[in-house]
Amino acid sequence: VQEDRTALVTGGTSGIGLAIAQRLQADGLRVAVLDLDRPQGRDVAAAHDLHFIGADLSRRADCRRAVEETVAALGGVDVLVNNAGFQHIDPIAEFPEDTWDTMLHVMLTAPFLLSKYAWPHLRRSGHGRIINVASIHGHVASPFKSAYISAKHGLIGLTRTAALEAGEQGLTVNAICPGYVRTPLVEGQIADQARTRGITAEEVEQKVMLEPAAIKRLLNPEDIAALASYVASRAAWGMTGAVLDLDLGWTAR
Ligand code: NAD
Repeated sequence: VQEDRTALVTGGTSGIGLAIAQRLQADGLRVAVLDLDRPQGRDVAAAHDLHFIGADLSRRADCRRAVEETVAALGGVDVLVNNAGFQHIDPIAEFPEDTWDTMLHVMLTAPFLLSKYAWPHLRRSGHGRIINVASIHGHVASPFKSAYISAKHGLIGLTRTAALEAGEQGLTVNAICPGYVRTPLVEGQIADQARTRGITAEEVEQKVMLEPAAIKRLLNPEDIAALASYVASRAAWGMTGAVLDLDLGWTAR
């Protein structure tokens, strides 16, 4: 079947989101990328011929407008990829409360709102897809990441609930759970840890980050995009409510 579907990818101008946007575009979909309204994001989208939607996912009104803009620009929404996110590290006793609120909004409430607002379009598609980018931290915990881990655990619950509600509507809902992927977010963490621990970046990767992994190599954004491409495809019609680990064997133990 010739591909005539459209996709909206949040956090689509960096890292995993950009790789997914480019891959879906290569698969023949028309793709809009949503990101914070900054010149850098606009430039990345323009450079890759992706339709840019400036929106702040910590605001409810922006979530609604983003769906409306996507429909106006591309004619519909067939694939929604909830990927935007960020990390904050602090012990619970010191965790900033406003940061908790923003993280839960961007990484859990916004996927709910975008699913809600896009639902009629996804349903009309007949081959609708919601793909939620969760994390191994949707299954397991690490200290000092309370908001991130709570949001990602919640996102898996939302995925399963939405899959049951979508049922026979030709709409599937799945979550992808990556281990560590080499993106700007992770490169920053490696540099910080190398500094604070007084070891090399290579040692941080091997001994700290990849210690629980069976395969001692960071994933690339394209690895996640390849899985998203399959989940988005018409061939994956029977996969729904799935929580797909792509984690170097991290959660196998
Ligand atoms: P990244 O920092 O490269 O990209 C995240 C994007 O989200 C950025 O473009 C950022 O501007 C956008 N974003 C953040 N807050 C936003 C807001 N309020 N409104 C709109 N956009 C906003 O990060 P990444 O590593 O590509 O991560 C993408 C997703 O993958 C995240 O949900 C992350 O939790 C998840 N993930 C990443 C890894 C990893 O190792 N990199 C592992 C597991 C899961």
